[in-house]
Amino acid sequence: MSQVIEYASRNAGTDVLQKTNETLDPMDWKKNCVQAHRMLDDMLNYTENIRERPVWQPMSSDVRARFRSAVPRLPSDLASVHEEFMQNILPFAAGNVHPGFMGWVHGGGTPVGMLAEMLAAGLNANLGGRDHAPIEVEREVVQWTREIFGFPASATGLFVTGTSMANLIAVVIARDTALGFDVRRRGIAAKGLTAYASTAVHGCIGKAMDISGIGRNALRLIATDHRHRIDLAALEKAIKKDRDADFTPFLVVGSAGTVDTGAIDDLAGISELCQREKLWFHVDGAYGALAMLAPALASRLNGIERADSLAFDFHKWGQVPYDAGYILVRDGEPHRNAFASPGAYLQRTQRGLAAGSTWPCDLGPDLSRGFRALKTWMTLKVYGTDALGVVISRTCELARYLESRILETAELELMAPVELNIVCFPLSLRRF
Ligand SMILES: *Cc1c(COP(=O)(O)O)cnc(C)c1O
Repeated sequence: MSQVIEYASRNAGTDVLQKTNETLDPMDWKKNCVQAHRMLDDMLNYTENIRERPVWQPMSSDVRARFRSAVPRLPSDLASVHEEFMQNILPFAAGNVHPGFMGWVHGGGTPVGMLAEMLAAGLNANLGGRDHAPIEVEREVVQWTREIFGFPASATGLFVTGTSMANLIAVVIARDTALGFDVRRRGIAAKGLTAYASTAVHGCIGKAMDISGIGRNALRLIATDHRHRIDLAALEKAIKKDRDADFTPFLVVGSAGTVDTGAIDDLAGISELCQREKLWFHVDGAYGALAMLAPALASRLNGIERADSLAFDFHKWGQVPYDAGYILVRDGEPHRNAFASPGAYLQRTQRGLAAGSTWPCDLGPDLSRGFRALKTWMTLKVYGTDALGVVISRTCELARYLESRILETAELELMAPVELNIVCFPLSLRRF
């Protein structure tokens, strides 16, 4: 091996490469270093002084037009492209890094996560599998999530883009568990599977039903109570009605923090029902699941530890920069059975880089995948999960404060109980 490298370096020496422009290395490493520090300083400065900027501002048509150029066939200076970034991109971001950003369910990110992204990009690790330290980092985070959520040692975990993908993976595992893993070869031809969730469930569950071939119509949306939680009696009735009509119920999705009002379903109640009915119990905890880190909130998630699978986002309440979705599956066996695909080039060896048992590519649709685990690992280690829990509690306290102000303001009306950090009230734009 070393002979090959020696041969290559002798015959493709940097002089030759630079003359023929066949390398992507910097021409001048020193100049590159200065430019790199400038870019780092600019971003650190941006995060430090974010409060002095508007949360959001519209892009003028002028700026938008700058993104309509032809394929850049010829090189440009990194410094000048960076300048374009500073002028045309940075000022027109969504604004979720800003403390004044209150829209939707967006995470804020942290300087630690930003720096970890740079380190990860420097390694350019491929987390599809094989036996290298980055894989151990992902495994360690998996172990931490088992501990946080009270899952057994047999549980498997995987970083994905977001909870939409994590929910899809859960629906596929539940589907294959219900129909037998042979379904991966035979396909699913109208098997009459039915799934259940409340009317407040996130839209990506319907999308997962669609993509997994079961169909959106097979997702039964169950009414909610006055706190926007799934009505357990109605759920039980719907399952019975479907069984009587020869459908095959296979899955109940509980929400730990719905996207509209932050409602938390009775997870322990759903878990008992699923045990009785032999149904897969999945929890969509996209943002709410990490309330486990806040001692005052954790008990609200009772029953989450009994889920067959749990989807959540480190990029929401975990404040890890986008994207860092995650799926935790109670029993690794059906997880592997639903996704592992043999391939000659994926053969495992006893030792060396191709060693190791379960690889991440055995647990999801992706083969090549980036090092999302590093920014999550660094965020958890540097801040500590207690501090993240304190921040989570604080957002809920702020929401309760806003609730109290709305209740004492005659012109405003509270539209839903405040469960976590979401406050729903109509805003008359004419008045404000
Ligand atoms: C955000 C969210 C999702 C979707 O997660 P992505 O990371 O955006 O794919 C699903 N469910 C709930 C409850 C959410 O808040």
